[in-house]
Amino acid sequence: MTGAELISFEPATGAEFWRGVAGDVDAEVATARESWAEWAAKPVTYRIETLRRFANTVRARHDDFTDTIARETGKPLWEARTEVDSVVNKVDISVAAYSERTGQRRLDAPMNTRMALRHKPHGVLAVLGPYNFPAHLPNGHIVPALIAGNAVIFKPSEKTPATGAFLVRCLHEAGVPEGCVRLLLGGPEEGKALSGHPDIDGLLFTGSARTGIALNRQFAEQPEKILALEMGGNNPIVVWKTPDLKSAAVLIVQSAFTTAGQRCTAGRRLIVDKQLYEPLLGELETLIRRIIVDHPHADPQPFMGPVIDNDTADMLTESFLALSTRGGRPLLHMARPNGDLPFLTPGLIDMTEASDRPDIELFGPILQVVRTDTFEEAIVEANRTRYGLSASLISQDPKLFEQFWANIRAGIVNWNRPTNGASSAAPFGGIGWSGNHRPSALYAADYCAYPVVSNEADQARATIGVGLRDAV
Ligand code: NAD
Repeated sequence: MTGAELISFEPATGAEFWRGVAGDVDAEVATARESWAEWAAKPVTYRIETLRRFANTVRARHDDFTDTIARETGKPLWEARTEVDSVVNKVDISVAAYSERTGQRRLDAPMNTRMALRHKPHGVLAVLGPYNFPAHLPNGHIVPALIAGNAVIFKPSEKTPATGAFLVRCLHEAGVPEGCVRLLLGGPEEGKALSGHPDIDGLLFTGSARTGIALNRQFAEQPEKILALEMGGNNPIVVWKTPDLKSAAVLIVQSAFTTAGQRCTAGRRLIVDKQLYEPLLGELETLIRRIIVDHPHADPQPFMGPVIDNDTADMLTESFLALSTRGGRPLLHMARPNGDLPFLTPGLIDMTEASDRPDIELFGPILQVVRTDTFEEAIVEANRTRYGLSASLISQDPKLFEQFWANIRAGIVNWNRPTNGASSAAPFGGIGWSGNHRPSALYAADYCAYPVVSNEADQARATIGVGLRDAV
């Protein structure tokens, strides 16, 4: 059966970048299922060695991989390079996480018996990836899943199939059996068919809350399957009692506009002490005007590239307008320098007087600002979201950070650091609509294997001490 044609375009030029054909879900699941048992039966040391070779393969192809990501997503070369670094580093982190969180252990047991804790892989896991980190994020599921002994069917975003194909090619070249990691090309239709397939044992998802909630519904009657959801955020940055407003402006720009705002951890809402509002916004606007928005390969290197495609740019432009019709006061308009391409300059809008502030993730370079009178109000405002991924406080007062940490609802709570740039060596996840309490990164090991406890003795020697009549 031949699937529909799939084409990806370079956002920065509009040129066709890659062309392929959507995959056959049944065939990919059947292949993975057939191949899984042999991979699972290999010693973990063998699987780790294979994945270390994968890290070396990616290292050797670093430049090509960087170029593919930069072209297909539009992100600047320097940033695509850091994404490839994360793909490499994920292997060592996953090896350590596997033994730390899901290794084998002896537990205390009564005399002459043993209790062992071991972990088993789930079987065949589906991985659905987003477009904004098309290599690093799916890789963050795939590597720990393979180390634990699962087979994987990976469907990259329909917007970044070439990056997905590159990643899978590196895995195969490194010696991961072709049957154990399958590339499934396609869009939401293939995603639905894969997530609903009876022969998968679970789904590891990174993407929007909208899709994640649909998947949660789809899995509602299958409690036997593992479902890990990494979803979006509507993340606050609170600025209170800080003398260095230049640094505050840098942290805000890094939070809101890195990757053209296309990060799940991007700072979306700036909540600021009304006393600091004027000077801070002055610094911020000056810095934002200096941001270079350009082609990923441009010289000088841009701070940010375009957003992923024209539809997304249109949606963001309309959303910015919609915020102003609700009473938002634009401070910096989001410009579209070339109407045919999805480049956007950062938009800044004061929503303090707005009739309502919609709690939606605007996945692009838009920062909303709210002034408050007290720090308590700032925290209430920061928590006014169904999401709960990341949050930052910029302040020199440790007491305020204590109060912020205790009251803010998020899985990542930072102090004088951006909302984004999370380390793969720590757990990564949030609450509310940001996920389903299956954090990724360091804790990915947890959802890639399940614990099996065994009570063991060398011989079947047993007596019953009470409750028996004398033997006749
Ligand atoms: P998306 O939800 O549109 O798509 C993600 C994947 O799901 C794609 O592979 C897509 O083809 C597939 N898909 C879409 N609809 C589907 C359906 N009904 N059934 C099955 N599969 C379906 O997300 P996106 O636009 O590619 O990525 C951006 C989103 O991802 C943002 O919301 C962002 O916050 C989120 N994100 C979260 C994290 C995290 O770790 N928490 C990281 C990066 C991105």
